[in-house]
Amino acid sequence: MTTETQQKCVGCDSILDEDDYTYSNVQDKPLCYGCEESDLQGASTLVKVHGGEIDRVRIGDYVIYDEDAEIPDFLTKIAGDSLDVRKWTKTDAWRGHGSTIENFKGVKVLASGWTTGWADEYHQRKIKFNNFLNEIGEGEYATPFPIYVLLEQTSNVFSQGVDFFTEERYESQVTEWLEEIGYPVSVLKEWLS
Ligand SMILES: [Zn+2]
Repeated sequence: MTTETQQKCVGCDSILDEDDYTYSNVQDKPLCYGCEESDLQGASTLVKVHGGEIDRVRIGDYVIYDEDAEIPDFLTKIAGDSLDVRKWTKTDAWRGHGSTIENFKGVKVLASGWTTGWADEYHQRKIKFNNFLNEIGEGEYATPFPIYVLLEQTSNVFSQGVDFFTEERYESQVTEWLEEIGYPVSVLKEWLS
């Protein structure tokens, strides 16, 4: 008998029971179910909208799953060489925000900032932005070019970081299109500020 087959979780280093663990498709190593669960809870969400089609993917440190629990091609394309793209920027000992956008290649950010589902009277612009996202997410506009929305955690549990972007080569077309549908980039920037 040998103990060499004993596997450790890449997340917490615990020893895994035989056949009772999952796999990190980011690190390409065994992962325990507890680490998978907490990774998905804190994961970033990337949504791609193009021509009325909507694709979503959850991006964690250890796992990346689309609706079929796969890594979608559209993510591989902008992630470049490594799938280890999820990034967190600390602003002080307690605060920080997701900054995964910095690891994407060939993209052009059109507007970024934050939103909240708990907008008070001082933050009505957040409701406007959320409505815009809902319209996009419900396929109200047959987007002629790919647009992406990256939603990430911040240390404020009531607010989410948002990056609204496209691929570099479509920057001018997307900018024009947003103007045509009544959501110019300048307005989106203001709503996210
Ligand atoms: Zn673990």
